[in-house]
Amino acid sequence: MPIYRYLCQSCKKEVTVLKGINDPDPKCPDCGQPMEKQIPKVQIKGGNSSCSAQSCSGCSGCSSK
Ligand SMILES: [Zn+2]
Repeated sequence: MPIYRYLCQSCKKEVTVLKGINDPDPKCPDCGQPMEKQIPKVQIKGGNSSCSAQSCSGCSGCSSK
């Protein structure tokens, strides 16, 4: 099963969960709010459209340019 990262929009708690396709999205263990799935950063490739910094050395899109 793939591992997903989820961020709670309410209290900013971040968790990693092992989740099957048919499993429902997890709820925050702290406040019980629905959590939002985070897109893995490794999928950002060949572009810096997601980077808002003018001179960024921290993201793969900018440093590979
Ligand atoms: Zn929360």
